Amino acid sequence: MNDQDCIFCKIVAGDIPCFKIYETDHILSFLDIGPVNKGHALVIPKAHYKNIWDLPSDLGKEILSAAQIAGDAIVKTTGADGLNLIMNNHKAAGQLVFHAHLHLIPRFEEDGLKHWGQNEYDSMDEALALAQKIDKMIKGID
Ligand code: AMP
Ligand code: ZN
Repeated sequence: MNDQDCIFCKIVAGDIPCFKIYETDHILSFLDIGPVNKGHALVIPKAHYKNIWDLPSDLGKEILSAAQIAGDAIVKTTGADGLNLIMNNHKAAGQLVFHAHLHLIPRFEEDGLKHWGQNEYDSMDEALALAQKIDKMIKGID
């Protein structure tokens, strides 16, 4: 299953080159062409799924397993002090390529990258109400 207009499907098909670092039957991992830090890589399913919700959960597990293997090698090879795993889902979250992918970003002490700022709840009651609403959503209760 692939999408003719999708750049990552073209990479999987070999129509566009990539700097491959890891591959299994269902997964491909290659260097991001615009790295946040050198060694920044992507892990993608070979089949075209749009985002985390489109992805079968077994494949999600394979992606995470590939991220452990490739991420470990990236950290050791680059001498990184840490590793961020990031997945952007939908445009508002920064997704530019609509073929599900996990970013593996090696991090270095003092690399100057700032973490997201934190917000706060107006009250503990607000946080509790929101947590209960989400919990009910998961359980399918109105
Ligand atoms: P996202 O914003 O999460 O959709 O990230 C898409 C990522 O794909 C960006 O970090 C791009 O640099 C990367 N990218 C786009 N085209 C290519 C390509 N041909 N080879 C490798 N990485 C790519
Ligand atoms: Zn695709």
